[in-house]
Amino acid sequence: MIGAAGVQENLQLRREELLARANRARDDAAHRRQAVSPDFSEQAAERQNDDVLRGIETAAREEIAQIDSALDRLQRGEYGICVECGREIEAARLEAVPYADRCLAHAGT
Ligand SMILES: [Zn+2]
Repeated sequence: MIGAAGVQENLQLRREELLARANRARDDAAHRRQAVSPDFSEQAAERQNDDVLRGIETAAREEIAQIDSALDRLQRGEYGICVECGREIEAARLEAVPYADRCLAHAGT
């Protein structure tokens, strides 16, 4: 069993990182919108940039939601238990995906 305190700290650190990234992407996109270039091809490039930034923000916020749910499970003593089969999630998997809520066999279901 992995130390719960260490896991919680890791998850919280990762969460802070992601939150900073999401907010930075959001601020960058907002800043760009204020300074829209009159040049059409520049505008297209800026829109593409906005899409990238939005993608970064969305991905970060989705991972934050998963981390929040993992922190919840940690509080309830259900961390590291597969929500599908109730077995312990493989240590290697938790190392790779600390907020995983499914074992390898049930990942992606
Ligand atoms: Zn499972």
